[in-house]
Amino acid sequence: MQAPRLPTTQKPRIAKNPLESHWLHSLPVDRLPSSPPPSSAFHFDVAIVGAGLSGFSTALHLSRLSRGTLRIAVLDARGVAGGASGRNGGLVRPGVPGAFESVVALHGREEAQRLGRFEFDSVAAMQQFVNECGDDTEWTELKKGGFKALSTTDNRAEIEKDIHKWEEAGCNIQAHLVSREQVVQLTGCKVNRNVTNGAVQFREWRVNPAKLVLAIASSTLRENSNAYFYKECLVEKVLPDATRNLFSLETSKGSFFARKVVYATNAWTSAILPELEITPVRNQVISTVPSSNPFWKDGTFAFIANAGREYMSGRGDGRIVLGGMRYLAKQEDFGCDRDDALNKTVSAALKLYLPSKFDGFENEQVAVEREWAGIMGFTADKTPYVGSLEAIGRGKEFVIAGFCGHGMTRCFLSGRAVAEMVLGLPISGNFPRSYLPTVARIAGPARNHCKLEDYGHTFGAEMQTIKRHTRSKLPLYALVLLSVAAWLHWFLCKL
Ligand SMILES: Cc1cc2nc3c(=O)[nH]c(=O)nc-3n(C[C@H](O)[C@H](O)[C@H](O)COP(=O)(O)OP(=O)(O)OC[C@H]3O[C@@H](n4cnc5c(N)ncnc54)[C@H](O)[C@@H]3O)c2cc1C
Repeated sequence: MQAPRLPTTQKPRIAKNPLESHWLHSLPVDRLPSSPPPSSAFHFDVAIVGAGLSGFSTALHLSRLSRGTLRIAVLDARGVAGGASGRNGGLVRPGVPGAFESVVALHGREEAQRLGRFEFDSVAAMQQFVNECGDDTEWTELKKGGFKALSTTDNRAEIEKDIHKWEEAGCNIQAHLVSREQVVQLTGCKVNRNVTNGAVQFREWRVNPAKLVLAIASSTLRENSNAYFYKECLVEKVLPDATRNLFSLETSKGSFFARKVVYATNAWTSAILPELEITPVRNQVISTVPSSNPFWKDGTFAFIANAGREYMSGRGDGRIVLGGMRYLAKQEDFGCDRDDALNKTVSAALKLYLPSKFDGFENEQVAVEREWAGIMGFTADKTPYVGSLEAIGRGKEFVIAGFCGHGMTRCFLSGRAVAEMVLGLPISGNFPRSYLPTVARIAGPARNHCKLEDYGHTFGAEMQTIKRHTRSKLPLYALVLLSVAAWLHWFLCKL
């Protein structure tokens, strides 16, 4: 069956009035004002399009590596963290990209080791940044960790063996298997009904992602007096100006000129860089009003179920943030760039999730305080594009985008790698070379194969339970409403 995808002529658009997330709501109103527009004679050394975690991580590292001498502009159609970075589930969970042998088969041992270490390095670097900057980001390591529920078809022995293989290869992935009883004991939580086959426990952090990006942005502007931020500034075109050896960025606020350009535009990249296919995929999240449920009050653990497709955490103030379940709306959310609207099916399922899956919620009304959507950017090979566009003859342009719904652990040091490449420095650390935008990736067979079925995955038993659950209740409510209406009608006619 042919999978539906965005027609190549249809460019993703940035919605005008996106729903406000819990994180963006918590930012100060006067957050990061726009810099005064530059004169037409002024040019920047680097223009970064996109003010999310990728864009500002790149700006921070560029500023630090150049000791504040580089003239940098960060331009965004919205404000700071207005894209996925201010709309995710607020969890930072470093991991590995798959089973060790399959990653080695695909990329070779050396790259597998880099991939196995990179996310942990990136999280450690972010932690160091957070400790040093002193700004409030709500960055907290979850004392009890994250618990990823195993499904009944998961083979515990195989998973344990795989963890050892990563460890033997020198990747300290810090994960181990726990039984259902141990999960109950460790969390004190009358546990999620998903956890019949136990879970993998790993290190995990929670953060207010919008505050994190704001802190990175504020540090950049503090440390580099030559760095500027332009909000509500949509970049419509990037045109090379060969005579002046510059790029002209045509924006809603006029033209900006720069020697080099970095596209940190995530799901919207294809709109100004059509050579790269990055598919927008909508994802939804809810936050509750502070719950009286004692298990969630301390906010020391997170749950992930359905192979990461449902994720929730207590935030330490009684609130619970729960997201995912986009598998219920695969056709609608794949290729969708609308974070100004909610998918009703996903919305209803998220609201029913806590009482339907967790003991201890049965008699408690789960009141939703805020509900929002965010747009993720998916690549055909499920690997982000990070690096120079030299492969397509555009050596002064760089990209950092397409983190496939898993950027919190990868954007920060990817930003450092892009900064190094912009400055012509050797790439440091364990940066995965498979992220580079090579000819094979951009123009090879993987191109134009971003398919829905790659992202929907199979429907497991647990997903079907949710489907049935959400489906079975809605007709019931409709029936009750209809009966009341019919009775009222009969009663009024009698009068
Ligand atoms: C609901 C949801 C849940 C998620 N859960 C997780 C998770 O559990 N773990 C995890 O690691 N990751 C998760 N992610 C993904 C993570 O949030 C992203 O990978 C990360 O934030 C990407 O950051 P970014 O800076 O690359 O992109 P974004 O934050 O999307 O920033 C891109 C910016 O570019 C701007 N822009 C685009 N085009 C233009 C243009 N032409 N002109 C001007 N500005 C432009 C946009 O306005 C936007 O601000 C989730 C994402 C969502 C939406």
